Amino acid sequence: MSSRKQVVLATRNQGKVREFERLFAPLGWEVHSLAAYPDAPEVIEDGETFAANAIKKAVTIAEALGMAAVADDSGLEVDALGGRPGVYSARYAGEKASDEENWRKLLLELKDVPLEKRTARFRCVLAYVEPGGEPILASGSCEGVILPEPAGTNGFGYDPVFFLPGRNCTMAQLDPDVKNRISHRAQAMQSLLEEIRRSGQ
Ligand code: IMP
Repeated sequence: MSSRKQVVLATRNQGKVREFERLFAPLGWEVHSLAAYPDAPEVIEDGETFAANAIKKAVTIAEALGMAAVADDSGLEVDALGGRPGVYSARYAGEKASDEENWRKLLLELKDVPLEKRTARFRCVLAYVEPGGEPILASGSCEGVILPEPAGTNGFGYDPVFFLPGRNCTMAQLDPDVKNRISHRAQAMQSLLEEIRRSGQ
């Protein structure tokens, strides 16, 4: 058995798995994707906050697999929509909606909103838990503007319509390595690693 720390990512979203694998790479931990555990329970994300959903996912998977688990719950908050889609980001246009259907719905809702009022942020809350332990939480956010038209093909989700004023491009036009340095998930990861180190786990 390997002496490296084992951790499972409590997500089936391949876009997130790719990002987490890169984020964990420098730590030398052995990172497993939920894809390797087809019998792991399906977690219903019915919490009203990102934190509630992240904790539920991490605890359920850590207990079911007997291994440390990291879960993220993330989404897009648009100011002109009172913070929607928020925790409903993944299923904004319906339970089985594709990424494109979700951002198309968003663009339709914002069609009469001028650019200066289209401010938004990606938010991410991460939960890390060892079996039987208390969850450790961390969060990160990334500010931007929702464009009227998509641009770029990298990333996933709302990336093609999320413009980063400081970079003068959308999240989907960024090199994946750059996204992994500046994203809400990257910031939450940095903060989570500090919290895990501080807790001595
Ligand atoms: P969940 O965390 O699995 O509930 O899904 C979060 C949803 O928020 C994703 O399906 C995307 O629609 C959106 N989202 C989260 N992070 C990102 C990102 O980095 N880029 C684009 N969309 C994101």
